[in-house]
Amino acid sequence: MFESLKNLLKHFTGSQESASATPGTSTQQETATSSTTDEESNAQYITLGQFNLGIGSIGPDNRNDIDRKILNEMYQAISAGLFNVPVDGSVPEICVDGRTDKSGYRKSAPCAAGGTLSIVYGGDLGSNSAATDINEEQLTTQTINKLKEKGHQTGVHGDDHSDCGCGACSKAPTIYQHITERINDLASLTNQLGINITGSEKESIVQQAKNRLSQAGFFAENRASIIQAAQDTGAVYEELTGQHNELGIALNTRVGTTVDRSAIRSKYGPQYDMFVVDAWAFGNAAKDINSTANGEDEQRIAKAITLQNVATASILGHGSLPIIPIA
Ligand SMILES: [Zn+2]
Ligand SMILES: [Zn+2]
Repeated sequence: MFESLKNLLKHFTGSQESASATPGTSTQQETATSSTTDEESNAQYITLGQFNLGIGSIGPDNRNDIDRKILNEMYQAISAGLFNVPVDGSVPEICVDGRTDKSGYRKSAPCAAGGTLSIVYGGDLGSNSAATDINEEQLTTQTINKLKEKGHQTGVHGDDHSDCGCGACSKAPTIYQHITERINDLASLTNQLGINITGSEKESIVQQAKNRLSQAGFFAENRASIIQAAQDTGAVYEELTGQHNELGIALNTRVGTTVDRSAIRSKYGPQYDMFVVDAWAFGNAAKDINSTANGEDEQRIAKAITLQNVATASILGHGSLPIIPIA
């Protein structure tokens, strides 16, 4: 499935298949857009708003501290893979959050909404079993233990000013609700990116979300307790600082890489941040978390992880937030 995403993204951006994943080798985007205006170059990227998504506030239209010309240069450079760096892990481990810790540092690891919690929620939403004898905290512990058994690192984060500073965690019930209400818009967006979610897959994922929303006590009242449970089970904790300054979603399909947030800031300025989604790692997580040997179950979990990421972006992000593919 993610091979098709890769191919479609390549088609989408007009870049050619490259044998090398070396960061900084692709310059096609830069040369292709150098003669276009700001408006034209911006129009090449899809936005959440085009899919009737993006009910949050994070996005370029809510900013007055940004130079539009620099912004477009940044999008093009990111899309060309100029900020891709290698990672060790093969499943999502840290959050898509664009911020860094107080030293300006982020762990170099595959990213998804909520870090390891993306696998917790995606694994739950994509699961076929309607087990109601487990709650969110137990599911978190169970998932992390399973990932550890398979040799993976796990991770979560907070920030320096909130009780639960990870939007994917603090708003998890809202994100489940969003999936039940907006499945068709969310699936239209993934479809545009080459991931087709079938009618029966949508039905199954929506039903699972509804089951959890109606399961008394499934979601922890104290959202920070989920982050704590993850830490207690061995997840590495990052404390991020400051406000959200994300200006886009970097959708990365280059296997074995992520996007270097610190390098983006040093090039364009401290207020230039991006959400980073390492979509290439979703299929690996689905394979390792799937409790059946069934390939269809694995596919549905990978798609549920994708939906959890898109839904999180839609809840936190503004309609103006563009998706910048790195193929
Ligand atoms: Zn987060
Ligand atoms: Zn905050």
